[in-house]
Amino acid sequence: MDERTSKRAPTTSVVAERAAALTNDQGGFPAQEQQPPGLTGRMNPRPDHGEETYVGHDRLAGLRALITGGDSGIGRAVAIAFAREGADVAISYLPEEQEDAEETAEWVRRAGRRAVLLPGDLREEQTCADVAERAVAELGGLDVLVNNAGFQMARTTGLEELRTEDMDRVFKTNLYAMFWLTRAVLPHLGRGASIINVSSIQAYQPSQTLLDYASTKAAINNFTVNLAAEVGERGIRVNAVAPGPIWTPLQPATQEGEHLESFGGDTPLGRAGQPAELAPAFVFLASPSEASYVSATVLGVTGGKPVF
Ligand code: NAD
Ligand code: MG
Repeated sequence: MDERTSKRAPTTSVVAERAAALTNDQGGFPAQEQQPPGLTGRMNPRPDHGEETYVGHDRLAGLRALITGGDSGIGRAVAIAFAREGADVAISYLPEEQEDAEETAEWVRRAGRRAVLLPGDLREEQTCADVAERAVAELGGLDVLVNNAGFQMARTTGLEELRTEDMDRVFKTNLYAMFWLTRAVLPHLGRGASIINVSSIQAYQPSQTLLDYASTKAAINNFTVNLAAEVGERGIRVNAVAPGPIWTPLQPATQEGEHLESFGGDTPLGRAGQPAELAPAFVFLASPSEASYVSATVLGVTGGKPVF
């Protein structure tokens, strides 16, 4: 057992124990790469979405949620947790992620809740409108919107080499889609409803390789606070979760494979997080009773990196 491994012990929860077991001594994973958007089945090891561990307590009983990027990674963990807390769930995702989406839907149904699958590219304004409309129609209304879909591409070249088409993919996925979808969903949200946006540690400690992505995450924080002020009088809360390094398909799909060997090792907790470790933050923020007075906040789940 090296020093870092011994520093990690003792783990205090089943999830943290499983998460630590999934990482290597540098906190990371075997080198590997995929084409974006990346698929769960091609990851080694498979991420932990709480399939075997998340226990619900009816905290979201009867709610209806739309989770973008709910097919995989953090979105899948949130979908599983929401379902086990008693919510029906619609997930949006890219058509090439159908197999991941179906697996998430299967977990939602096993929890006894409805799963609605909404494939489509959210970089299109009309798709955002359609996804919102179909989620509302098929779930019979909407109480929670989780703007979780996101894209990044790590680059070793600087701003002068940044191509507009690459910027477009990042800005449209992370920002335009969030604006379009939230705008389309808002008329359907009532008192007690909430919106949860997915920010990042990159909003606070931007990596040189993620100039465009980090900019969008800072903007998402600003959007969160600003929109919370706008819709507060309607009894709608708006919050964000800022993840640190988390083991999801996004990572092998958007950076050089070797970087994954130490992925997460630079956090105070010394390892990457698993999607399962994010879900409770979303459950809390979505809960109309537990988070009834929580709005305009960014909840960091970063392995110890600061979010202020
Ligand atoms: P992921 O790849 O599992 O999820 C991202 C999802 O975004 C994809 O599954 C895909 O369905 C969706 N998406 C991407 N482009 C889309 C498009 N054009 N149209 C529709 N859907 C699209 O990876 P993840 O890490 O779970 O990412 C979820 C969120 O977490 C993202 O916003 C990401 O920026 C954020 N985040 C991740 C990390 C991390 O280390 N994994 C860290 C900080 C923030
Ligand atoms: Mg995916």
